[in-house]
Amino acid sequence: KTIPELFAETASKHPGRDAAVFVEQGKRFSWSELGEAVDALAAGLLKLGFEKGDRVGIWSPNRWEWLVTQFGTARIGVVLVNINPAYRLSELDYALNKVGCKGLITAAKFKTSDYLGMLNTLAPELANAEPGKLSAAGLPHLSTVIRMGEEKTPGMFNFGDMLAMGGEGERRRLDAITAGLRPDDAVNIQFTSGTTGAPKGATLTHSNIVNNANLVTAAIRLTSQDRLCIPVPLYHCFGMSMGTMGCVSKGAVMVFPGEGFDPGATLRAVQAERCTGLYGVPTMFVALLDHPDFKSFDLSSLRTGIMAGSPCPIEVMKKVVSLMHMDEVTIAYGMTETSPVSFQSDVGDPLEKRVSTVGRIHPHVEVKVVDADGGTVPVGERGELCTRGYSVMKGYWEDDEKTAEAIDPEGWMHTGDLATIDAEGYCNIVGRVKDMVIRGGENVYPREVEEFLYRHPKVKEVQVFGVPDPRYGEELCAWIVALPGEQVTEEEIKAFCQGQIAHYKIPRYVRFRNELPMTVTGKPQKFIMRDQMVDELG
Ligand code: ATP
Ligand code: MG
Repeated sequence: KTIPELFAETASKHPGRDAAVFVEQGKRFSWSELGEAVDALAAGLLKLGFEKGDRVGIWSPNRWEWLVTQFGTARIGVVLVNINPAYRLSELDYALNKVGCKGLITAAKFKTSDYLGMLNTLAPELANAEPGKLSAAGLPHLSTVIRMGEEKTPGMFNFGDMLAMGGEGERRRLDAITAGLRPDDAVNIQFTSGTTGAPKGATLTHSNIVNNANLVTAAIRLTSQDRLCIPVPLYHCFGMSMGTMGCVSKGAVMVFPGEGFDPGATLRAVQAERCTGLYGVPTMFVALLDHPDFKSFDLSSLRTGIMAGSPCPIEVMKKVVSLMHMDEVTIAYGMTETSPVSFQSDVGDPLEKRVSTVGRIHPHVEVKVVDADGGTVPVGERGELCTRGYSVMKGYWEDDEKTAEAIDPEGWMHTGDLATIDAEGYCNIVGRVKDMVIRGGENVYPREVEEFLYRHPKVKEVQVFGVPDPRYGEELCAWIVALPGEQVTEEEIKAFCQGQIAHYKIPRYVRFRNELPMTVTGKPQKFIMRDQMVDELG
């Protein structure tokens, strides 16, 4: 099936029921209202001359226009390009030109970021352009800019006007266009998080996304009775594939607490909307549990959810189960390049496995764990995780070289993650291949040290990484965020490790920070921490 086919099926099953709630914007859609907005946008895009295969970028935090754009572009086979809300000038320039975006749907601003100002800097021609007829030296592919919000801006269409633009003629064409789409057509260029460097654009098809969303939500038994809270960014596969597409595949209600992640707003949304499910990366759950008024919220409606995106500490998972009522929470492991999930625990798995592993391989996907020479390792041993199957992306957009580095000729996606798989098939992600630290000839997996330090009662967050060292090759460094109001010292941390973990795993450097460098998807960026430590150590 294609995305618009699945959408139409769900919308026609539950026309009058809630489809989506945008708490911060104060906007609600039933399935029929959402379907109507999606068709209106698709008709407007047709009217402006967009057709199957054209690229349209979306640069926005979690707003209702995002959801309408996701399904409105897919309706006519336009390839949606999700642009990181944290981008600045040079990155925006790169992304728009790299994939040749013909259209851009943009928020006016996000937090301190003036999106329209940045666009005008890249394309000063906008100010005098007729909307839809932009011709800018800096953005040669871009003809049409559509802005969100009420105001009008020279050179741009307004999103609301777009919805009114398509006429009867365009609307009549929609169904025939949808019927002509094929499941393996590209429909999305999704950017990775940028945890290890610049985000990469993965080209995904209808079939990639529809099937993965279906399997991901089956593992948490999502149904049309559920209300899923989505505080993760729509920019990312967690929000748009596992989140919105997952809800569409089951007819569940999507609840968006706000444009960006805010712990208080998320807790309020769960309570007010009686959410039964909640998604988040580990750092988001840490922030929720740590909210000063956490205990005053009624979270008893929660049943399930997914923690994913980076290593999920057991201590955090246990608290999510015991303090947030999420008895049926699962962990998922995946990457943008595999649409995204390949491992996930299932609600039916024993609790112990669900808090401590990323579960078992998803149906219809093959997996192997290989050593540095590419040979499969024995059961239980560490190696690089490789996956193969329907979920692997078409490739990085127009980047054959990078694609060939990631996907080998036999179709195996080399994930760059280190894992072990036990005899029952449960998988543990040990860390990233590149994050492994070799200290004086001993392999150290930062993840293991992080897990240990999370047990310290004053530690809120910890990240461990390697820094170059003339004597040992590399030395371990820990960056720690202490719980609010707690004082903790380097000596205390080292004493805590002494005798409990092997001496070479005890971080040589311990630093305390108020916060850690993060991607917009809430993942700690170790490459930035490492660079800063290298500077500090001289
Ligand atoms: P970039 O590729 O731009 O550096 P990224 O790899 O973080 O960023 P994503 O595609 O968002 O981009 O994330 C996929 C990665 O996230 C995986 O390769 C893995 O390292 C990590 N990850 C995802 N889920 C889990 C999990 N449950 N446990 C441990 N790591 C996870
Ligand atoms: Mg990656």
